[in-house]
Amino acid sequence: MTARSALVTGGTRGIGRGIAERFLSEGYRVVINGTRPQEAVADVVAQMSQLGSVTYVPADIGDSGHRDRLIEETLSTVGRLDVLVNNAGITSPGRKDMLEATEEDLDVVLAVNLKGPFLITQGVAKHMIEERKADREFRGRIVNVTSISATVATTNRAEYCISKAGLSMTTKLWATRLAAYGIDVFEVRPGVIRTDMTAPAAEKYDRLIEDGLTLERRMGTPDDVAEVVSVLAAGKVPYSTGQVLTVDGGLTVARL
Ligand code: NAD
Repeated sequence: MTARSALVTGGTRGIGRGIAERFLSEGYRVVINGTRPQEAVADVVAQMSQLGSVTYVPADIGDSGHRDRLIEETLSTVGRLDVLVNNAGITSPGRKDMLEATEEDLDVVLAVNLKGPFLITQGVAKHMIEERKADREFRGRIVNVTSISATVATTNRAEYCISKAGLSMTTKLWATRLAAYGIDVFEVRPGVIRTDMTAPAAEKYDRLIEDGLTLERRMGTPDDVAEVVSVLAAGKVPYSTGQVLTVDGGLTVARL
């Protein structure tokens, strides 16, 4: 039997790297992408290669030509794609108060965090539908990495919150459209995870967590999220397409 395969966008660092490495350790053939040229990520890719078969494609998911090339190169590398993880994302530029955020800020964040995953899913879904028509046993799985910002308002990251709320609905839409083809679509919604993205605010988060922000008193790790994505990709959460798995240490549990 051929190894399962996965495309993890933004897999060179942070949560995406955690997910990609988890898949590699489980024997998947993995494709990752990012905005940096091949040479700039050679060391990271070499380290990841020690775990298994990984291919890096330089491609900006906010750019339509790059997206098409990413899908083509992924399919020509793995042949059949079993799993797509829409992980790549950016925070709001400069974390400006929403009274100061610009139209350009909104365009950039929505292009990467919302339009990119929607259109990559569309391209991959067409391939998965063909696989399903050829093989009734084929089960495609798609996971969108959103954020608690899909429901928690932060006024200096309005573009980010809007993009993640949109990606949350995108999950429900694709789950609805693709269910007939046996393709499950899930949303994984992380809380505060220790990565380069949260590094500038890590001290603030550590203090808030000490004061009770989360039920589990620590920041999350990429491995926490990777574990959940791995379980979903393996089909171990059956009869649940379209659902949200929140990985936030209890941050969003309402308390009195
Ligand atoms: P990160 O900044 O450490 O890594 C992001 C990755 O995405 C990088 O590999 C980067 O190269 C890639 N990327 C960024 N823009 C891209 C583009 N235009 N095209 C292709 N690749 C691009 O971030 P992270 O903390 O690992 O976050 C990963 C995902 O998880 C994001 O979608 C983020 O919104 C989400 N998330 C993170 C947290 C957190 O606390 N870190 C919480 C909730 C959700």
